[in-house]
Amino acid sequence: MSKVIIIGCGGVGTVVAHKCAQNPEVFSEIVIASRTKSKCDAVAKAIGSPNVTTDRVDADSVDDLVALFRRHKPELVINVALPYQDLTIMDACLECGVNYLDTANYEPKDVAHFEYSWQWAYRERFEKAGLTAILGCGFDPGVSGVFTAYAAKHYFSEMEYLDIVDCNAGDHGKAFATNFNPEINIREITQNGRYFSEGQWVVTKPLEIHAPLTYPNIGPRESYLLYHEELESLVQNFPTIKRARFWMTFGQEYLTHLRVIQNIGMARIDEVEYNGTKIVPLQFLKAVLPNPQDLGENYHGETSIGCRISGKDKEGKPLTYYIYNNCSHEAAYRETGMQAVSYTTGVPAMAGAMMFLTGKWVKPGVHNVEEFNPDPFLEVIAAQGLPWHEVVGGDLEVDKI
Ligand code: NDP
Repeated sequence: MSKVIIIGCGGVGTVVAHKCAQNPEVFSEIVIASRTKSKCDAVAKAIGSPNVTTDRVDADSVDDLVALFRRHKPELVINVALPYQDLTIMDACLECGVNYLDTANYEPKDVAHFEYSWQWAYRERFEKAGLTAILGCGFDPGVSGVFTAYAAKHYFSEMEYLDIVDCNAGDHGKAFATNFNPEINIREITQNGRYFSEGQWVVTKPLEIHAPLTYPNIGPRESYLLYHEELESLVQNFPTIKRARFWMTFGQEYLTHLRVIQNIGMARIDEVEYNGTKIVPLQFLKAVLPNPQDLGENYHGETSIGCRISGKDKEGKPLTYYIYNNCSHEAAYRETGMQAVSYTTGVPAMAGAMMFLTGKWVKPGVHNVEEFNPDPFLEVIAAQGLPWHEVVGGDLEVDKI
């Protein structure tokens, strides 16, 4: 029986709250806390359980967070606010003796740059305090790392080539919208691409490398090489990996809008003066784009995210392996009122929290998901709405790119 605080009540926070409430034998008390309390109240009302309460917090303020933790005394905080708040929340966890889980690594607001170094710098402090911090426990990062750990444990003696492939074949009927927080999403996609090859990071221009890849139950979709944060920890935790890449699909319409947004300066993250007020164009753009939380109702189609891995099997023979999940936007919406991108992030965050609270992923320090036992986690996500599938010995396609 354990109490958790969920910080952030956007698309992902809503799913986490629903999924935790569905498992009261583990999550006996749930507090949803965010900047706008009315959003938390609406989610709590939709869930309709006396175990779910709400509060308000400014997660940019350590003092505010400390006061929140002292009011509620949670065992674990599930951070599904924005990546900017990771460090303040980790500081407050250390001050109050609370364990920590998130789904995205820290990013400073004024530079579009994400890497784990800031959060890995907390390792010793969490270890000394006897607290566990689980980093990157959404789908990618998150399940992508656990899939890789599962492949290493059960199939490979040496993993050599890893390609994480992320396809959203859904259609929400809008000319342009992002599937999660537009500010975070556009910052991620407009950066240079980067992949790991033979011990080096190779930098590409944004979306420079692309190729069609075939996704199960979907078919071929143009897929673009991006840098994605789990690559950084996976190549460290699995040092036999010679090459690691991340691919995401985008439609032509989406890319055209993105190009225009960049060309007219609306993707800028520095302040500009407008009528005597300082505004950040990308934050203004977020205010006028469709809210990702409202896309669910008319969203059709599926996401398909997985890992394509090749290397040597346990006997040293060549092996190819593909492990993936497909998730339906309609089914996700029926269950939680959110689309599949929020759903595929929120279910693993709940599962990671469950792993911690049931003692399966308890390890003082700061850890990425692939450092824990993948088996009980994958059992839970399969039972909680994200069944996964394996193809052993198939054509991975990625060896030709
Ligand atoms: P949203 O923008 O929908 O929600 C963010 C929530 O955080 C909002 O409720 C917002 O409050 C709240 N918030 C923002 N700043 C503060 C603050 N200073 N104090 C308190 N609350 C704050 O984002 P998503 O739900 O789409 O994404 C949530 C997280 O999940 C992000 O970090 C994102 O990067 C990550 N993510 C991870 C994925 C993965 O697979 N690993 C995939 C998709 C997302 P308000 O309502 O007032 O704005």
